Amino acid sequence: MKISQSYSSFKKDLLYPVFARNLKSGVEIPEGLPGTRSQARENPPLGIVCASCRAHVTTNAERIEVQGSHDHRFMNPGGFTYHLGCFATALGVVVVGPDSREYPWFSGHAWRYAHCGQCAIHLGWQFRGKGGTNFFGLILDRLHELDN
Ligand SMILES: [Zn+2]
Repeated sequence: MKISQSYSSFKKDLLYPVFARNLKSGVEIPEGLPGTRSQARENPPLGIVCASCRAHVTTNAERIEVQGSHDHRFMNPGGFTYHLGCFATALGVVVVGPDSREYPWFSGHAWRYAHCGQCAIHLGWQFRGKGGTNFFGLILDRLHELDN
């Protein structure tokens, strides 16, 4: 009984990602997350920020090519097209949920949801390969690139 109850609350949290940070398992909150208001004031975030709340997400230096290209367009099962950019790391995101291998966009990679660490909006996915290769595919429309 206990297991099914916690599974059901877990599914609910996936539907309401703003609460996902309260999950005890399956969430990784990076140490020293830069997307907090107090730190942002002392250390102005540079690079690439969340378009919704302007919290630091990643930097241009983290842009990488995966399977021959930095950016990729994918259609989800609902017919919605996402334009993703690939990044080696994204310290400002919180990764949510168990690995999924449904609808694998990058062959050989499982994925988990990646949300803004400050406002919790869905920013993309973390992709994890069997050989330990990790990267982030972030929705470029939901990011804002700072000038310097
Ligand atoms: Zn945000």
